[in-house]
Amino acid sequence: MTQSPAITTPAIAPLTSPGTVEEALALLHAGGAGTRAIAGATWIMRGPTRGEPVPARLVALNRIAELQGVEIGAQRARIGAMASHDLMARSLPDAPDLHALARAAGASANPGIRRLATLGGNLCATGFVAADLVPALMCLDARIGIATAEGRRDLDMAEFMALRRGTTPFLVTHATFARSARRSAHARTPARDYPVAIASLALTLDTGGRIATIRLALGAVEADARRWTAFEARAVGKSPDPAAMAALARDLAGGLAPVTALDAPGWYRAQILPALVGRAFGQIVQEG
Ligand SMILES: Cc1cc2nc3c(=O)[nH]c(=O)nc-3n(C[C@H](O)[C@H](O)[C@H](O)COP(=O)(O)OP(=O)(O)OC[C@H]3O[C@@H](n4cnc5c(N)ncnc54)[C@H](O)[C@@H]3O)c2cc1C
Repeated sequence: MTQSPAITTPAIAPLTSPGTVEEALALLHAGGAGTRAIAGATWIMRGPTRGEPVPARLVALNRIAELQGVEIGAQRARIGAMASHDLMARSLPDAPDLHALARAAGASANPGIRRLATLGGNLCATGFVAADLVPALMCLDARIGIATAEGRRDLDMAEFMALRRGTTPFLVTHATFARSARRSAHARTPARDYPVAIASLALTLDTGGRIATIRLALGAVEADARRWTAFEARAVGKSPDPAAMAALARDLAGGLAPVTALDAPGWYRAQILPALVGRAFGQIVQEG
């Protein structure tokens, strides 16, 4: 009698679609290395074009109700990790504190990508330096909800950026932020597709029209998006004049560590940044 070859059933299917965050985390742990979450798929499935293999096992997040939706209240806002750029752009009301995020969501990439790419994917595509939502969320002092095997936590953006550089498996569940009296703007170049420099800005003015509080976050300039605190410290108390702010950015640009990549050399990113900073201030000044 001939023996039939042994049939082995994989412990988990190549693509699973759990219904809860806890099930998704369990699948990520069970799968081990080579198992990744998948949201809009616009980054992970293009891995081979960057010389990265497509993961052996994928845990799709699209069926998890908790990760969906955009809720913008008068005091607070919550955006689910699976909210697409397009949904965000359509859901954000026309309010000064939300202009940076609305432009980050509505002007990034192209319409097809915006319908697929998600908040969680933008936050977690480590290695993608040109993510528009990341600097915009930094300007909003957003907090990122994450789930790990140890439980749930809310992290500020600096804590989140440190976590995503580590090896602990985690899922982003949502972003939250307080609504505020800040005015905000988002300037990027080029106008579409992958930007080579991004300046996200949020500020309040004092009764004399000078800058009282400010957040200026840079994307696509250094290896990771970050607040430009050296600029913020020098800008407080000054007039938000676009030309003067561009000049301040020019003075301070030497302190940046701009990244050289295929799309642009580092010196070019640093060179165009002051004009972008001036443009972001210009958007705010024009809106009054
Ligand atoms: C041609 C093109 C142009 C683009 N231009 C821009 C642009 O100008 N600006 C911009 O901001 N974006 C742009 N994008 C989108 C950006 O490059 C990423 O592809 C996108 O942000 C990834 O989102 P996603 O939902 O598709 O993530 P996926 O590709 O599904 O996943 C990306 C990574 O995040 C992880 N992940 C996803 N969701 C979660 C979660 N909830 N918790 C934990 N980990 C998670 C995945 O495991 C994976 O490692 C562009 C994309 C393309 C293809």
